[in-house]
Amino acid sequence: MTQLPRAFETLPRLSLAKLPTPIDELAKLSQALGGPRLLVKRDDLTGLATGGNKTRKLEFLIADALSKNADCVITAGGPQSNHCRQTAAAAAIAGLDCHLVLGGSPQPPIGNLLLDQLLGATVHWAPRPHRNSRMSELAAAMEADNRRPYVIPVGGSNSVGALGYFAAMFEFVAQLAEQGRRVDRIFFATSSGGTQAGLVLGARLAGFTGRITAISIDQTPDESSDEKFLAEVCRVANGVAELLGVDARLTVDDFDTNYGYLGDGYGVVGELERETIKLVARTEGLLVGPVYTARALGAMLDQIHRAAFAANETWLFWHTGDETALHAYAEALTV
Ligand SMILES: *Cc1c(COP(=O)(O)O)cnc(C)c1O
Repeated sequence: MTQLPRAFETLPRLSLAKLPTPIDELAKLSQALGGPRLLVKRDDLTGLATGGNKTRKLEFLIADALSKNADCVITAGGPQSNHCRQTAAAAAIAGLDCHLVLGGSPQPPIGNLLLDQLLGATVHWAPRPHRNSRMSELAAAMEADNRRPYVIPVGGSNSVGALGYFAAMFEFVAQLAEQGRRVDRIFFATSSGGTQAGLVLGARLAGFTGRITAISIDQTPDESSDEKFLAEVCRVANGVAELLGVDARLTVDDFDTNYGYLGDGYGVVGELERETIKLVARTEGLLVGPVYTARALGAMLDQIHRAAFAANETWLFWHTGDETALHAYAEALTV
């Protein structure tokens, strides 16, 4: 089946992304590495206040908020959250107030944080472990004030948000067919898991049979030990199937996740990220961001160095869009 399930068309959706995003060749990078043929799916070009993967999720989340008559949205993330930036832009388009709960203490307005402010979002700071409780408190306070808040979880990773990546896989499969291309392996950055949930369920239903490898950006080995994180990703994916009324159900074994590239933790730029950013910039003129895409692409390149590919394979990096954070990491990137 390469048609989206019929129920898909009945779901509220607000057009925010420029779709389909292009698939580009990375011929010079492939040549420089002596690697497989390399492609990139440009979800950094979704076009919402630059772009990124959250835009596809927000098409469904913001439409859901509007259908529930919300007048403001609340979400959370790190100080350089791409999700928060795109949510602030989507809220502006939809005419909703936007409140962001950022983990940590106040920081100078650079990178995504500057954009959040320019986009008119109200920023609240809370210790990282208290972000969710802070969102609930804010929502309760607004309701008491006769406002109608809509809370979007960190990363927009519930089943409504994951619909965006479910649909993205159908878009991708149609593009490959049209362009006469075959892709053997996809790599991308996973964090809150909604992208992964949508892509893997979408692959099952759209008939994509290549391997889909998610590079974990921030699950500590404790959190990940596969059970907790993947159980949640699986729950989100099966929630998408339920929303669409399709029979498919996934198990944790359907998700290929690599936790081997965590470096010194979330948002810490190391050698892998720094070298990857420079290499793709200098071979392809392509920017990847410091927190997510440099780590995930660096992981893909490391797999190439380890010769983990067969002759005539094609690998694709799904760019999820975070180059707006580069300036905030100027110091770590220029050592
Ligand atoms: C949020 C984000 C991810 C991870 O997506 P999830 O759906 O949260 O797993 C990857 N890359 C970038 C650039 C992001 O902002």
